[in-house]
Amino acid sequence: MKTITHIPFNFDYNEFSKQAHLSRYADQSTNLSTLLDKAVPLVKPKALYRVCYITDRSGIDIFLQGVKFKSAVLSHNLREVERVFPYIATCGNELDHIPLSQDDLLAHYWLDTIKQMALTAALKYVRSLLCRKFGINKLSTMNPGSGERELWPIEEQQPLFSLFGDVETLIGVKLTESCLMIPNKSVSGLFFPTETTFESCRLCSRINCDHRRVPYTITT
Ligand code: SF4
Repeated sequence: MKTITHIPFNFDYNEFSKQAHLSRYADQSTNLSTLLDKAVPLVKPKALYRVCYITDRSGIDIFLQGVKFKSAVLSHNLREVERVFPYIATCGNELDHIPLSQDDLLAHYWLDTIKQMALTAALKYVRSLLCRKFGINKLSTMNPGSGERELWPIEEQQPLFSLFGDVETLIGVKLTESCLMIPNKSVSGLFFPTETTFESCRLCSRINCDHRRVPYTITT
């Protein structure tokens, strides 16, 4: 298992401005610069990954190092794969310690946008490290709880976390009883080698999702 606690984060103001729709909040620029001065130096994205082999398959069950996962789509995507890379990536919990008034919804929104950018940096870093280190051209990913429930239920985060031991101590990510991750901008999943890119969004009918990467394709 590899723990990565020093992922570079270069804050791109133009990208932040786009993601946070700053053109709508021009009169709040002083508050924003105060928040950015506090938050940006604290950002420390982190990640864990490990190399796992598929040790058994049975119907829609897949076993990674003996740990069982259940998903028809996952099982289909891994039908020709033997080696996968479970991972957990996070924006880090440092920004959760910045005191903000509960009523300052805009500040919470801006902070969440920075956290999302940090998470994106962590995911990009892990993906590119894996490709480089293991000589892989293309990786796809699946994440429990992403998209329609039946794709890969969110509860499958429990066996996924069990592959890593004490995740909270290692990178500060806590899994609640209802399977939400804290900090909120954290992602757990599996990277796997593919010829064609798999995107959960293609099988997800959610309307008005800001994070949609490809259009929904109705399947029969
Ligand atoms: S459309 Fe949105 S909710 Fe659905 S899988 Fe894509 S990112 Fe997730």
